[in-house]
Formats: sequence, C-alpha cells, structure tokens
Amino acid sequence: DYGPAPEDASIAHDWLARHGARFGHFIAGTLTSPHTTFATINPATSVELAQVSAGSAADVDAAVEAARAAQPKWAALSGHQRARHLYALARHVQQHARLLSVLETLDNGKPIRESRDIDIPLVIRHFYHHAGWAEVLADEFPAATPLGVCAQVIPWNFPLLMLAWKVAPALAAGNTVVLKPAEYTPLTALAFAQIAHEAGLPEGVLNIVTGDGETGALLTGHAGVDKVAFTGSTEVGRLIRKQIAGSGKALTLELGGKSPFIVFADADLDAAVEGVVDAIWFNGGQVCCAGSRLLVAEAVAPRFTALLKARLGKLVTGDPLDKSVDLGAIVHPVQLERITSLVDQGVAEGAVLTQGAAPEGCFFAPTLAENVDPASILATTEIFGPVATLTTFRTPADALVLANATNYGLAASIWSENISLALDMAAKVKAGVVWINATNLFDAAAGFGGMRESGFGREGGREGMVAYLAMPSPKAGKAETPP
Ligand code: NAD
Repeated sequence: DYGPAPEDASIAHDWLARHGARFGHFIAGTLTSPHTTFATINPATSVELAQVSAGSAADVDAAVEAARAAQPKWAALSGHQRARHLYALARHVQQHARLLSVLETLDNGKPIRESRDIDIPLVIRHFYHHAGWAEVLADEFPAATPLGVCAQVIPWNFPLLMLAWKVAPALAAGNTVVLKPAEYTPLTALAFAQIAHEAGLPEGVLNIVTGDGETGALLTGHAGVDKVAFTGSTEVGRLIRKQIAGSGKALTLELGGKSPFIVFADADLDAAVEGVVDAIWFNGGQVCCAGSRLLVAEAVAPRFTALLKARLGKLVTGDPLDKSVDLGAIVHPVQLERITSLVDQGVAEGAVLTQGAAPEGCFFAPTLAENVDPASILATTEIFGPVATLTTFRTPADALVLANATNYGLAASIWSENISLALDMAAKVKAGVVWINATNLFDAAAGFGGMRESGFGREGGREGMVAYLAMPSPKAGKAETPP
C-alpha cells in the first residue's frame, strides 16, 4: 500500500490537540503542568507542533525522587511479573503503532515508510525481547542485582527506538528510569509514557523530563542517579564522562561514527549499491553507524560509481508523509546548516559532488562526494546527513588502512563474495559492529556499540543486559557496577 498519497496525519494532530499542544513532564505516572516551554517543530513544514517544558533542577529532582521511590518495589517483583509488564508495553505500542509512527515522522521528518516499517517494529521487538530477559534473568545472572535509578539521555535520530534501547533492558533488570529525549524530538517519548501508564506500568518506574542539554546535564549529574546511559555526540559524551568521573555511577556511552563501507572487486555490485542506499541515505544519513565512507576497489570503481550515481538519481526527497519518498526532512534547520557548511568546506577542499534533487526548505539532497582526500573534512568529520564520500583502494591492506583511519569505531560494512577475505577484514577493522554483505541491521538480541571515540558499553543482547546489572566481583564477592 505504498501509494504516492500522503499518510493521513490526523491521528497525531488529534493527540496533540487533546493536550492543547502543550506538555509538561511525565513524572510519577502523570503529565505535570507545562511551564517555561519551548517549541518543537515539524521540520518538513516549519510549522510548530507543540510546546514542551524545559526541565528545571526542581523537575529533575522530582523525577529522580519518583524513580527512587518506585525502585525497591519494582525490583522486588519477580522476573515473571516484570516480564508481564514488558510484554504489555510491547502490545500497547503495537496497538498505538499508527499514532507513534505518524507522530515520529511529524516531529523528526523521517519518511513514514521508515517510522512505520522500521522504527516502531524495532521498538516493539525490543520490548518483547527484554520481556524474555526479565523471565530468565534470575537463572542467567543469579547473583546480579539492579543498579537502581538510571538517567538516560537520547538523541533525535531514532527518538522512540533509542528510548526502547534504553528503557527495555533497564526495566527488565529491575531499575527505574528518568529519561530525557532530545529537544528536537520530545513527542513520542511523552506519548510512550502515557501508553506505558495505560498499560499498567507502576507510577515512577518510567519518568520523562523534556528539555535541552542543560536539563540533560542536571539529570546526568544528579546525585540520586546510579547509572548514566547516553547516546549522542562524542563531544557531549566526553562532557558527561568528566562530569560523573569519580561519582561511582555506572556509565555507557553510544557516540558518533564515521563508518567505512568497503566494496571489494568481487562484490555483487548491484547488492552493494542497494547497500549504500541503506547505509547513508536511510534516515537521511542521520544514523550513528551510517556507512558514510565508501571505500571501493579501484578495479570496479568506475562501474560501481556509475551504478551508484544512476541509483542516486532515482531517490526521491520530499514530504516525509508521502509513502513513496526515500528521504524526508533534515531534523532541524540547525542540522541542515551544519551539513551545508561541512559540504561547502569539502567542496572548497576539492570534493566533486553528485547530488539528487531536493525541495526548498529543511531538506538536503542525497550526495556523493568524490575526489575526497582521506585527511579532508568530509572524510574525517561525522556529517550526520545524506553525504557519502568515495575513495578507491588497490589492495585489501590499503582498504584496511583507510577503514581504520578514523578516531571512531562504531560500525563497518564489507562487501565481497570471498567469505575468507570478508571475515579476515571483519576481524581487523576497528568497529564494534561489522556487517558482511549487509548494512544497518539491528536486532534486539545482538549487542550494539562502539570502540574508540564511538563510546563503550553495548545495547541489546546479553552484553546490553549486563550493562544494567550490578554484578558480583569474582575476587571480593562484592557487588560492583560495570563497566
Ligand atoms: P547531542 O550530543 O547534541 O545530544 C544528545 C542528547 O544529549 C540530547 O538529548 C541533548 O539534549 C543532550 N545533551 C546535550 N548536552 C548535554 C550535556 N552537557 N549533558 C547531558 N546531556 C546533554 O547529539 P545529537 O545531535 O542529538 O545526536 C547526534 C549524535 O548522536 C551523533 O554524533 C550520532 O552519531 C550520535 N548517535 C549515536 C548512536 C549510537 O548508538 N552510537 C545512536 C544515535 C546517535
């Protein structure tokens, strides 16, 4: 049913209208009264969607207090009882999938096809998966205990999915949560909190405080917090690490990336071209693990580049509610400005661009940059937009050097029909996640996270569960917090 007709967005507009398009925080099971509000806009139209509140120190105190008060009772539930709550969350998100996908697309600008078929299904999957963990936790980690209250700060690129990655394992383990969504995209977190309440989640177990980085810092630095989980830029990750150093708080950081996408001469080039579409044009390239550096074997570079440019020319950028659109709006004019400025600097350094079409407004056309020096700004800076650089290599050894010529280490994608070569490369690339003949695949059962300046700790899978538990130290037999 992917006709060109735009999705009917009234379900989300009705929800906003029911709240007078003004929101407070979600603390101890209720939405507080709005105060000192700021606007969240629809980037595709520049129209204001709602006013949300800028969390103050008092708001953060109240939320942490609510989480602290709820935690012992939540932790005292059996794993099975917590699992039932997580199943209920998954089912309720499923029931409200349309509202959540449309709201996500309005607030973030991502194509409805993506929010409906990727973001929200992965959210649901994450809660189902972690319901399973809650069931088996006592068997799998008999000596482990919850950490307590978790402060979680998330970015705007996958608003509800990043919430799910943080909230599901925290709750499964018996922790309670105060989460701060990104200031550009606070709406689905607030809708989710209401849905969770409706699903019977006890009050105080999940609290949402909206606001910008100032509110974020109040939360991560709060003395009543036992663990900080952050996804966002490397710069802010560094600030948080300094802020909480010596506090004894557990910490996981999921930060930026500049991931290589390596195409060997024997790769299935058509598949690799589709891979690039997923790697760098999915979600407008606003993806932490985006395959933004294309490294292509010299022998096939002319053919690959021709195929890629032909495909790029067919991508449609426009109204994110239009079901035939491939790239929606960029999340915010500030981000658009950042992307534009980086690309302009790249061109000044000699980059040659091939670009698709994009409408006026907060949109950026899919872009391929050639003639890019590996040390130049386009090849080294995380652009967080639909911009890929293309560099050629001669030998696998050269490819490896280029792949690892970055401070980041989040993901890598390797394309070859020679599985020995691909596996050998996978072991040598410095990346927390490596895909072979695939890209941007996520599963709740697989740990995701980075190396080097892409952060530490894993989300998803067994490692992700461990990151929300206090484990007994093998030496002292005493509880200590990872990592
Ligand atoms: P950002 O770091 O600017 O903001 C992220 C969040 O941190 C927001 O909620 C923001 O309000 C908050 N924040 C800002 N300053 C803070 C402070 N001093 N203390 C506490 N919180 C603070 O990042 P962004 O622009 O929203 O997101 C883009 C970045 O996120 C990119 O670098 C991207 O690679 C990264 N990202 C990483 C992953 C991953 O899993 N590794 C996933 C998605 C995004």
